[in-house]
Amino acid sequence: MSTQRMESANSMATKRHPCPVCGHKEMSLFLELQKLPVHCNLLWPSQEKALDAPTGDICLSLCPTCGMISNVAFDPTLMEYAETYETSLHFSPHFQDYAEWLAKRLQERFNLNDKSIIEIGCGKGEFLSILCREGRNRGIGFDPSYDGNREGQEITSHITYIQDYYTEKYATKEVDLICCRQVLEHVDTPKNFLSNIRRTINDQGNTAVFFEVPNALYTFRDMGIWDIIYEHCSYFAACSLARAFTETNYQILDQYESFGGQFLCLEATLTDKPASSITDQLEQTKKVADLAFNFAKKYREKVGYWEQKLVEWAEQRKRIVIWGAGSKGVTFLNTVKGGEHIEYVVDVNPHKHGMFVSGRGQHIVPPKFLDDYQPHIIIVMNPNYLDEIGAMVRHLKDRPEIVSA
Ligand SMILES: [Zn+2]
Repeated sequence: MSTQRMESANSMATKRHPCPVCGHKEMSLFLELQKLPVHCNLLWPSQEKALDAPTGDICLSLCPTCGMISNVAFDPTLMEYAETYETSLHFSPHFQDYAEWLAKRLQERFNLNDKSIIEIGCGKGEFLSILCREGRNRGIGFDPSYDGNREGQEITSHITYIQDYYTEKYATKEVDLICCRQVLEHVDTPKNFLSNIRRTINDQGNTAVFFEVPNALYTFRDMGIWDIIYEHCSYFAACSLARAFTETNYQILDQYESFGGQFLCLEATLTDKPASSITDQLEQTKKVADLAFNFAKKYREKVGYWEQKLVEWAEQRKRIVIWGAGSKGVTFLNTVKGGEHIEYVVDVNPHKHGMFVSGRGQHIVPPKFLDDYQPHIIIVMNPNYLDEIGAMVRHLKDRPEIVSA
């Protein structure tokens, strides 16, 4: 589409951008996208407001030394996490199973019984509730977007929520485990972020940390082009994630992929002299670089494929819906030309119903809406949910075609 370019002769390419993880003096630009909504997960109460949503540019650049990928055009002042910031995936049984599995793993790993847990970026507090419930732990959840008035919120006496960022003013809070999921990719200076946490928990001896981020290898290897969103200014592979932690005095205990390879997890403790745990960094960095440059090449092909598909379906007067009003769905609709002709996006999260998609203004509806609408095509944004969705629409009499984006 006309608003997207992948060219090197532009202002971003000529300006030097040092790596935010290892400090290498210059990152290499490999993908440029213009005018994407800056808030994929911020919902709008009217179509007019959704169409008027603020946009920003994406200039993905790679560090040849540690494999870090950053959006060097990211402007943190455009971001604003309000209570309408909706990222909860806990309405999906598949995701719920994963959260239960992860909580059990952490509980066993760190012997979380009668312990104090802080979750940074706790969202609506679902995961912290699971962690605290199992081992009778005490929890403090930090999140500037926390909404205490939300319906269905699990209120327990041993969990406190603080509608704020976790900073040194909270250094007095005792903590055995710091848990931080799906946050670090929103931070354009990850080393500062990790150093601040390190300083805040400094005096507490045996504190462990757990971090979970989207897995850049998955995004770039499996052509997850809908995962390239403005909110994510940092893309970590195992090599760059490890580097960020060892550079800020954490001792890595374990690193692993989870959720079908889509996430990358890291468990660590604090240290003053981190062992350099990274032996195959160069090899991994080369792998990330190959994937990233190949990704940029294939990006146009995949967008082109979908633009063609939408034209074909429009000619056949097919009714199309997108399933998934999360970041993937929002990116698809804002990237693929013709997406503006799709009117509805289905989502299982009741808090999204009646709201509108940033940039293109589609109406978000519950699955039940399809009983009347009877779509011909359902474009599923996350292949992990294909079975779940197939089962939910099995009763539709026109048997829609379900395709994975
Ligand atoms: Zn680097």
